[in-house]
Amino acid sequence: MWQTVPAGASGQERKVGFTVPQDQLGYIQVRSTAFTMPVAKTQSSVEDAAHVSARAARRWALGHPWIFRSDVTVRPGRPAGAVVVVDHRGKSIGTALWSPASEIALRMVDAKPLDDLDQSWWRTRIRVAANRRASLDKLTNAYRVVHGEADACPSLVCDRYDRWLVVQLLSAGLEAFRARIVDALMDALAPNGILARNDVPVRKKEGLGANVELLTGDVPREVEVNEHGVRYLAAPWTGQKTGAFLDQRENRVMIGERARGRALDCFSYHGSFALHLGRRADSVVAVDVSADAVHRAKQNAARNDLTNLSFIEADAFDYLRDVERSRERFDTIVVDPPAFAKTRASVPAALRGYKDINLRALRVLAPGGLLFTASCSFHVGRAEFFEMLRSAAADSGRRVALRAMTGQPSDHPEVMTIPETGYLKGALLEALD
Ligand code: SAH
Repeated sequence: MWQTVPAGASGQERKVGFTVPQDQLGYIQVRSTAFTMPVAKTQSSVEDAAHVSARAARRWALGHPWIFRSDVTVRPGRPAGAVVVVDHRGKSIGTALWSPASEIALRMVDAKPLDDLDQSWWRTRIRVAANRRASLDKLTNAYRVVHGEADACPSLVCDRYDRWLVVQLLSAGLEAFRARIVDALMDALAPNGILARNDVPVRKKEGLGANVELLTGDVPREVEVNEHGVRYLAAPWTGQKTGAFLDQRENRVMIGERARGRALDCFSYHGSFALHLGRRADSVVAVDVSADAVHRAKQNAARNDLTNLSFIEADAFDYLRDVERSRERFDTIVVDPPAFAKTRASVPAALRGYKDINLRALRVLAPGGLLFTASCSFHVGRAEFFEMLRSAAADSGRRVALRAMTGQPSDHPEVMTIPETGYLKGALLEALD
């Protein structure tokens, strides 16, 4: 189980966890309970402990930190914060963040029964996470510093944008430690400011409000990201997620290095893939349905002195159909759509959407052309994603080779024992004829 390790002992924990894809978690219906801001208690006692079922204890023993409400046999009689957790035999199994209103009632944070998660506990935990990313500093100034369960900090997300941090506190148990988390982040990274992008629906399931709040210092509206030499503006206050899609960084570099000829970036948002493609391809067309996204993508192209990019505000499905009709072909294509499956129930429809867009892309791929395609839907598993691609390849009438399978970058680790950790899947395909 997770142990507290000394500061600087990067990568030595026995167990790491993941970042909750906020809009993709398989939450079950949550009782709506009024919630007032809790204060972290400094002493846990046996009476305050949460008692959990054998099933819950086994789940934790197998590496999953969540304990659902239905597995809590005796609920702690106290507000959100940290609690000691005991199993059905009365034996301690560690310490958890306690969220009274949530369906995920307990999130295990340590295998030891701790009286409190004090300042030094948080400083150590966050320092370890930050140290694990230290080697990224020479490649980029924007990356995920804390990836929730992956960094043994369940429900905490922290992204770095140059000298500023953007956090998301996604559970009531975690909120109780807000001040200590801010202190720990200041201690580990000394940022100029920390912004909370807590404007996410998942907080409602915890009985928490949704807002955007400056926690300390100041944070600009726009921050220039330098990603392997490609520069673009992130918008911490208003952009998607915490301001940019940092989780595609390694995939952007991968396809950027292989790009050639005429390139196409579908669902381009601020043009991040297009900018990488533009460094090697002769020309790049970036397509997004949002006028605002297209506007920003244009600004980003200018920022990189790239003159071989053009931008189209359009529905990518329609655009690809028109391209197919016109017999235009592309040598390098990226398809990085938003999550089509927000819930398990929407998976069949989502798979039809994924197949449709990939089929259209394969049809307009020049012989020898490359397609990088991705899905960030948590509910669409790897196997379903690849089955969908197989089916699209079959329908395309092309001979399509699978050149690489990709997942999340090193700063967004996917943990083997926590299936929910894997949300981003990618494939590099080549049209052989
Ligand atoms: N590739 C981007 C992230 C894409 S996010 C990056 O690496 O940063 C998904 C984008 O798809 C959003 O910008 C959204 O505006 C756009 N989008 C959603 N539906 C679309 C559609 N039908 N056609 C084109 N763009 C769409």
